[in-house]
Amino acid sequence: MQVPGPFEYERATTVDHAIGLLERLGSTARLVAGGHSLLPMMKLRLANFDYLIDINDLHTELGFIVVGDDEVRIGAMTRHRELLESDELARVFPIFSDAERVIADPVVRNRGTLGGSLCQADPSEDLSAVCTTLNASCVIRGPAGTRTVTMEDFHRGPYETAVGDGEMLLEVRIPLRPRGSSAYEKVERRAGDWAVTSAGAAVWLNDDGTVADARVGLAAVGPNTTGIPAISAAMAGQPPSEELYDRAAAIARDACEPATDQRGSADYKRHLAGELTRRTLRRAVQRIGG
Ligand SMILES: Cc1cc2nc3c(=O)[nH]c(=O)nc-3n(C[C@H](O)[C@H](O)[C@H](O)COP(=O)(O)OP(=O)(O)OC[C@H]3O[C@@H](n4cnc5c(N)ncnc54)[C@H](O)[C@@H]3O)c2cc1C
Repeated sequence: MQVPGPFEYERATTVDHAIGLLERLGSTARLVAGGHSLLPMMKLRLANFDYLIDINDLHTELGFIVVGDDEVRIGAMTRHRELLESDELARVFPIFSDAERVIADPVVRNRGTLGGSLCQADPSEDLSAVCTTLNASCVIRGPAGTRTVTMEDFHRGPYETAVGDGEMLLEVRIPLRPRGSSAYEKVERRAGDWAVTSAGAAVWLNDDGTVADARVGLAAVGPNTTGIPAISAAMAGQPPSEELYDRAAAIARDACEPATDQRGSADYKRHLAGELTRRTLRRAVQRIGG
C-alpha cells in the first residue's frame, strides 16, 4: 500500500486564516481542497510537503455559483457535483454540465473542486479547458492583496500556475455575453478516465446570425490556454456552416501539440482535436438556436 511521507496537518477556518498559515509555513506547506490530485501524488511520493492546510471549512466562503447580469462568479471550493447539478449554470454555460458528466466518478466529483482542478494544472484537466473556452479570469489573494489574471496568464505550464507562495485562488469570473452558448466533448478509454483528448467550444452570434466570437479550449493535447485565437479570427463575421466548422477543425489540428503516450498516439489525438472541435462548435451553435 502506498503511503505519503510524514506531514503536519492544519485546518484553516477562513480565507485570511489560510493565507496567514501559508505565509507562516512557507513553501513547505500546501493547501488541500478535495485532495483527489494532491494526495495521490503524495502517496506516489511524486510530491512531499511538511504541512497540509485543509481548506474544506472554506466551502462556506468559497463554495458558490453566482450568475449575475454580465458575469458568472464561481468560488474555488465549489465541488464538481455542485457544478454538475446547478441548473442556473447549465442555463448560461451548458459546457459545465457537459464536462462534469465525464469527469471521473461520483466519489471524485463529491470532493474535487474547481480551484483544485485549475491549480493542479494537469494538461488533461477538463475544467481548465472549460475555463479557457469561456475566457475566465482567476482571482488570487495573498498577503499583498488580491489580483486578477487571465487563464492565459494563470497556467504557466504543466503543473505550474500564477499562484505564488502564500497565495490562494479565491474564484473564477466568466464574462456573460448575449446570444451565446457552449458545449464540451471528451474521448476517454473507459468511462471516468482522463481524456485522450477533449474540446470545449463557445460561440456568440451577432443579430444577423453571423459569428461575433468563437473560442475553443482543448485538453490533453499540449498546453492550450488561449482559446485558439486563429479559430476566433477565422469564424468572426461568418455565418455558421459545416465548411466553417471544417476550417476551425483544421486550425485546431494544427494548433495542438499532442504527445504519444499510453492513452493514444499523437496522430490519433490530433485527429480527435479536429473532430471534437467540429462537433462542439456545431452543438454550441445549435444550442443558441434552441
Ligand atoms: C480517479 C480519478 C479520476 C479523475 N478523473 C478526472 C477527469 O477525468 N478529468 C479531470 O479534469 N479531473 C479528473 N480527476 C481530478 C479531479 O478533478 C480532482 O478533483 C482535481 O484535479 C483536483 O481537485 P481537488 O479539489 O481534489 O484538489 P486537491 O487535490 O486538493 O489540490 C490539487 C492542487 O491544487 C492546490 N489547490 C487546491 N485548491 C487551491 C486553491 N483554492 N488555491 C490554491 N491552490 C489550491 C493544492 O495545493 C494542490 O497543489 C480525477 C481524479 C481521480 C482521483
